[in-house]
Amino acid sequence: MNRPPARLAVVAGPSGVGKGTVIRELRDRHPEVWLSVSATTRRPRPGERDGEHYHFVDDATFDSLVAQGDMLEWAQVFGLDRYGTVRHAVLDRLAAGHPVILELDLEGARQVRRAMPEAVQVFIAPPSFEDLARRLEGRGTEDETVRERRLATARVELAAREEFDHVIVNDDVDRAVSELAEVMGLASRRMDHSRPATAGRREG
Ligand code: ADP
Ligand code: 5GP
Repeated sequence: MNRPPARLAVVAGPSGVGKGTVIRELRDRHPEVWLSVSATTRRPRPGERDGEHYHFVDDATFDSLVAQGDMLEWAQVFGLDRYGTVRHAVLDRLAAGHPVILELDLEGARQVRRAMPEAVQVFIAPPSFEDLARRLEGRGTEDETVRERRLATARVELAAREEFDHVIVNDDVDRAVSELAEVMGLASRRMDHSRPATAGRREG
């Protein structure tokens, strides 16, 4: 069969912009898409499960993954915790023909741009900085100090959006998902509107 090669997509953008929401919705529409499960030294949030949302590891384990060359990329994000992509898992999925998404910070996106220039680089942007701050607060998963650190990083990330192949403004989840599907070359598929949406304009 003559099928196009599976696409590797890097999805970046500031914390709270809706990357997780858009990717979750994309995978509902396109279950063949595989989202890389990163390793992180951050503590799990309530409801996050090891091996599903992240591989939650301690500092020593992260150090040895880096030392053994197992990380495709890694970064210390928000000057705090470390996050990284386990190389073999990504390469295995691509070899098996799955489209793969890496959700990365700016530094990680730059590392993958150098290591795998064939990856399509996508930046998810908020309609405005105020919307971003509202969403982050509305999500309610970080205290004010952590939120402020994330918003400070967001200014740096937003200034770098021109580095990316595509900028998708997440004002409407459905539209953002369709745009991401298009840049990843996924065949269009009708949405099932009978099921409740996983995200919306909650913060108004
Ligand atoms: P990220 O993964 O980029 O940190 P999330 O997917 O956790 O962001 O989204 C942050 C918050 O914003 C969540 O409460 C989510 O429901 C909300 N959200 C996501 N997309 C939109 C949108 N287009 N309009 C309004 N709220 C949104
Ligand atoms: P969170 O703590 O909200 O889950 O993620 C914080 C940030 O870390 C997100 O903006 C996300 O893009 C980034 N991130 C998650 N996994 C990785 C990874 O494997 N590598 C890098 N470089 N960044 C990551």
